[in-house]
Amino acid sequence: MFFHRTPRFVQQLYPSLIWRKKTKDKTIFLTFDDGPIPGLTEFVLDTLHKSHVKATFFCVGGNLNKNRNIAVRTIEEGHQLGNHTFNHLNGWKNSTTDYLKNIVECEQELHSLDQKKGLFRPPYGKLKRSQIKLIKQNQKIIMWDVLSGDYSKNISPKDCLFNTIKATKRGSIVLFHDNIKAEKNIKYALPRYIEHFQKKGYSFGLV
Ligand SMILES: [Zn+2]
Repeated sequence: MFFHRTPRFVQQLYPSLIWRKKTKDKTIFLTFDDGPIPGLTEFVLDTLHKSHVKATFFCVGGNLNKNRNIAVRTIEEGHQLGNHTFNHLNGWKNSTTDYLKNIVECEQELHSLDQKKGLFRPPYGKLKRSQIKLIKQNQKIIMWDVLSGDYSKNISPKDCLFNTIKATKRGSIVLFHDNIKAEKNIKYALPRYIEHFQKKGYSFGLV
């Protein structure tokens, strides 16, 4: 069970993190976590390319290292990459020192691809206050207000699409996954989600 919208009280507990962008424009910010993964990330890139949409990919450093060619394509097509740690660590289960080291390892992969945007997203959305304080010194911590739940075995592709559309507002930061667990849902929901909002006059921006 999860909330498709991040509850307001959670957002208020951590006001220094970025949950949603303040805008009066019809703009949505798509983000994809956990890649690059052969096949699936390429599906996402093809979908975005067809609809002229740019997005932000929060990459796992280990996957960047293994699938550098996909990362290069992602950048060449106008998307931006952010940091999602090297080993997809859970902040609550790791010391601040180990956690920050892992972020730096991912940062090195990003820098070797000339991606120096200073964008960070914590795996599982889990961070200790001590980690937040240090990460914030040189990175923007980008959370989300809309969770597609694409990785969940308990929702159907149709519900994933419907609930994600329903949860989205102007300025929403929406989380999908280019992760094998999400394959069935994202392949159905992503193209339809984009089409739905483009028909309503929305555009998609970079966080
Ligand atoms: Zn993740």
